[in-house]
Amino acid sequence: MKKKGALFPWIFTIAIFLSSFALRVDASPGGMISVGISTGDSKAAFSAKNSSLTLTDASGKKVSFTSAVQIVQKSPGIVTAGSTSLKLPVLIKSNGLVLWNNRPYRGYFRLIAEGGRSFNVVNLVGVEDYLKGVLKMEVNPAWPIEALKAQAIIARTYAFRSRNKHGSSGFDLCPTDHCQVYRGVNAEDAALSRAVDSTRGMVLKYQGAFAATFYHSDSGGHTADVASVWGSSIPYLKGKPEPLQYESPYSSWQVTLSLSEIQRILSSKGINVGNLTSLQVGSTDRAGRAETIILKGTAGLTTIKSSQFRTFMGSNRIRSTFFTIGGETPPMPLQSTGVSPTGVSKGEPVPLTPKDEQLLIAFTKKGVFNAEELMDMLIRPENRSIHLRRAMERQSGNNTSLASAAKMPTSFPTGTAITFSGRGWGHGVGMSQWGAKSLSESGWDHRRILQYYFPGTAIAKVSY
Ligand SMILES: [Zn+2]
Repeated sequence: MKKKGALFPWIFTIAIFLSSFALRVDASPGGMISVGISTGDSKAAFSAKNSSLTLTDASGKKVSFTSAVQIVQKSPGIVTAGSTSLKLPVLIKSNGLVLWNNRPYRGYFRLIAEGGRSFNVVNLVGVEDYLKGVLKMEVNPAWPIEALKAQAIIARTYAFRSRNKHGSSGFDLCPTDHCQVYRGVNAEDAALSRAVDSTRGMVLKYQGAFAATFYHSDSGGHTADVASVWGSSIPYLKGKPEPLQYESPYSSWQVTLSLSEIQRILSSKGINVGNLTSLQVGSTDRAGRAETIILKGTAGLTTIKSSQFRTFMGSNRIRSTFFTIGGETPPMPLQSTGVSPTGVSKGEPVPLTPKDEQLLIAFTKKGVFNAEELMDMLIRPENRSIHLRRAMERQSGNNTSLASAAKMPTSFPTGTAITFSGRGWGHGVGMSQWGAKSLSESGWDHRRILQYYFPGTAIAKVSY
């Protein structure tokens, strides 16, 4: 008896282990991925293109339909397909495309119970086919193929990295921008399918793990460090200058918001400074991207993160955090002049850009250089870039940025509205899509593009 009693928990544990193993493998076998197309539904229409539809329920009962079938929730765990009762989960397969509510999808479907009163509609699809239903929402198919390939690898890496993201709901990914927008066959495009096919199985890895392949529309000339946007540091997601200058529809933007609207939005988020009278950029990163915003009101000052401010105001209005407040000119990003904002110093004296000249003046006024450095720069002007680079490195160690040093001290703009003048669109982390487009136009292939934006990662191949 004693022995039997001891054995039971062990068998129970093994059973749990096996069932979770079976569930995990079944959720996305091999190169398959499961997408929760719709959740909490009580009815759904399915049909097949030029083929019949076969439904198989949990007890193995099979039923076929040659025309559309309505599936309706009947009781907990039970649905009806036409007049047939089926036990969830129900698989829905066809030799051709399966249409859910008239929208065609590749792969097949599984209906799973959701809380007893409804079901989730899950599309099980090959990863490569999934990507073909995703890319059109992420990149313009008319762009050069190498930029499309880079995007395909990014989307594939994301899919693998995010497997089981919605595991508690019974699928890997959702079809919205929470994961990746997926629209099935209706979103497919010949050029994008070529980009997917020609990079089959290719993913970006860092130290053996799927890389965090963030991307955005336009960096405004300099990408952002992930740490200054989301807090945690990732070695291959440091801010760096664009290798080429490029023009995009978002190269510069301007938006004017009334103080009363800003105050209303902030106060709805629990941020109050009395009557908001003005705001100004607080600290910036080394490229000049705003990191914090100082809010000035009748009750005093407070500081919030610029990425949070951007989200509150709407990321389609405040398109990036690369902005100035109250002026007409957006910040100029640092270019690769040998004065490397990424801290990778070349050590070679190079001519200063007008922007560097301004920074040099700001630093000199601020007393950043010692007497020896000032003397050396007077005697050997060609060494100014080296001293400027060293000063930047010292300043970054003090967590005081170049651009804020160049801008300080600032006064708060006055008036009833505030104008933001900015560059780029998006959070700025990882790959700039417009940057990748311009690089592909100048002959860079997808490997070189990805290596630039995600340095230290490597392309690996998943086989299936
Ligand atoms: Zn999601």
